[in-house]
Amino acid sequence: MDLTKLKNCELFLFDMDGTLYLGDEVYEGAIELMEDLPALGKQYIYLTNNSSRAGTDYITRLKRLGFPCEKENVFTSGMATGLYLNEKAPGKRVYLVGTQAFRRELLSYGINLVEEDAEVVVVGFDTELVYEKLNKACHFLRRGAWFIAANPDWVCPMPHDEVLPDCGSICALLTASSGVKPTYIGKPNRNMIDVISTMTGIPNEKICAVGDRLYTDIAVAQNAGAVSVLVLSGETTEELLRTAERQPDYVLPDVHALHQVLK
Ligand SMILES: [Mg+2]
Repeated sequence: MDLTKLKNCELFLFDMDGTLYLGDEVYEGAIELMEDLPALGKQYIYLTNNSSRAGTDYITRLKRLGFPCEKENVFTSGMATGLYLNEKAPGKRVYLVGTQAFRRELLSYGINLVEEDAEVVVVGFDTELVYEKLNKACHFLRRGAWFIAANPDWVCPMPHDEVLPDCGSICALLTASSGVKPTYIGKPNRNMIDVISTMTGIPNEKICAVGDRLYTDIAVAQNAGAVSVLVLSGETTEELLRTAERQPDYVLPDVHALHQVLK
């Protein structure tokens, strides 16, 4: 295995569930890897498509599990949406279909959130959704507002084989009623890595995405020209990997093995 591309990476983006832990069970060697990365000269970011929670919620959770985590180490699709709006639609009037946590996140980026005359409709994983928000969003979209969605996930997996309707499903309703399709920001869309590259000044080819899902964690790296590491500690089986159209750059059993390789 030629490790040059991997070892040249300066920034590592980590998926969380299925990669570093499963629920509240932290994988062996995961904390040690994160603690050792700065000494190995690597930066790291915990990356999530969940736009219902704020970055600070993840800092609390990760610290409780024992992971090192400061403000600069967490990046959500909600934060990516804030940066994307400032870059592509600066100062525009934005109507949000999202949680209070997402609202606060966008306000922290200086986004101009409005209730009337919106030029942009932003949708997130809105666990506080009410009909009035859908009604307003549909109204603005039908009058030409730009449609931005934080993450494309149809559902959010829950314990005991349950799911919650996620951002992609809310957007499907709005597309059906307005005829407008969204631009998605979160994984697997390259926007997620592009905004991180702009934010950190690190080129995409020196960014490595580590995760357990081919169609999000690995696809985002492939779409953005970044390096990808698939870990087999979560969703992807050997069988699934064999039949995948595009193969990851590297395949490892878990993040403990990644630590051994980087040392
Ligand atoms: Mg995962």
